[in-house]
Amino acid sequence: MPFSDFAGNPETIHRLREMLARKRFPHAVILSGAHGSGKYTLALMLARAMNCLEQPSTDGGFPDFCGRCSNCIRIAQSEDLDARFAEAVEARENLRDTDKKETRLFVQTHPDVLIIPPDPPQMMIKVDQVRHVIETIYYRPAEARERVYIFTSSAFMKEAANSLLKVLEEPPEFATIFLLTENAGELLPTIRSRSMTFNLGALAVTEIESRLAQLRPQWNARQRALVARLSEGAIGRALSFDIESYVAARNHALILLKSALGGNEGGHTELFKVTESYRSGAEGREKIGNLLRTLYALLEDLMFLQSGAGQLVRNTDILGELKKMSEAADFAWLQRAADGLGEVERGLRRNLLRSLSLDAFATALERVS
Ligand SMILES: [Zn+2]
Repeated sequence: MPFSDFAGNPETIHRLREMLARKRFPHAVILSGAHGSGKYTLALMLARAMNCLEQPSTDGGFPDFCGRCSNCIRIAQSEDLDARFAEAVEARENLRDTDKKETRLFVQTHPDVLIIPPDPPQMMIKVDQVRHVIETIYYRPAEARERVYIFTSSAFMKEAANSLLKVLEEPPEFATIFLLTENAGELLPTIRSRSMTFNLGALAVTEIESRLAQLRPQWNARQRALVARLSEGAIGRALSFDIESYVAARNHALILLKSALGGNEGGHTELFKVTESYRSGAEGREKIGNLLRTLYALLEDLMFLQSGAGQLVRNTDILGELKKMSEAADFAWLQRAADGLGEVERGLRRNLLRSLSLDAFATALERVS
């Protein structure tokens, strides 16, 4: 998977490759961007370009990577971060209790490329993880040209951040540190000033749609249009989008909104059947989280229609249905519905029974409409 496969942000990619070509790549790079914008994918691509044994060049002489040599292959084995992370967590769980406490979490599929994820259960980067980086970073790479360290989160414990700072003050010639973050402001200003920051911006809907046409041919055009609009410019979110559970949550959301607007053929029986299916426990919490997000998204789409900004609607595949609902609702009703959702969320935090607060939400909107 060479650089041409990276979605979007061509200027940023060009600048990074230019620095590689001139052998002026910074020792510390902050890659900043939304969840799913490709920070980790890009860091692993750069790690391969630094260490590819075939050292191909493309696009008029810029460094690329072959994807076939032993360095490329082993680095690519870290691509599925969720799976590697789960394996590392499980391996630690299987240790004896005394060892468990002292074992910090890493993902490593190449001897010179170390990935440092936030350590559970706190999901923070801990000082012992940074200590391990310090212990290894001053040794010359064994099989690569450049040692690469990738911190996948900027949630550092205080002591960990201070230790990292010491490395950044005196980095060895042959090492590069990547810091991935959704918000560079979370990093210490002293860390930021010793690093070079690159932002990965949101992609246009059309760009995501055309990438999906290549990479998700099993989705039809309507589905691709929907996912492209719901992924907020982040290609990773688009590619991992679970259409089935989204549509399931949206069907429930539509029943709730329609019965409040008086346009639901199934009446109250159907409404209660839906709300009853939301139970307590972790699974129920996730299910209702999806439902609430979908309800907000639908209300927003209805507001776009009300205010004559139909081009902003994201649920384009049910546009006809939304238009009908938008005619039945008015702006004040939509406002009350959004307030009502806020009420449901607060109720859930106080552990009110899920199904009851959903019923209350739907019936309250009915009374005032
Ligand atoms: Zn290679």
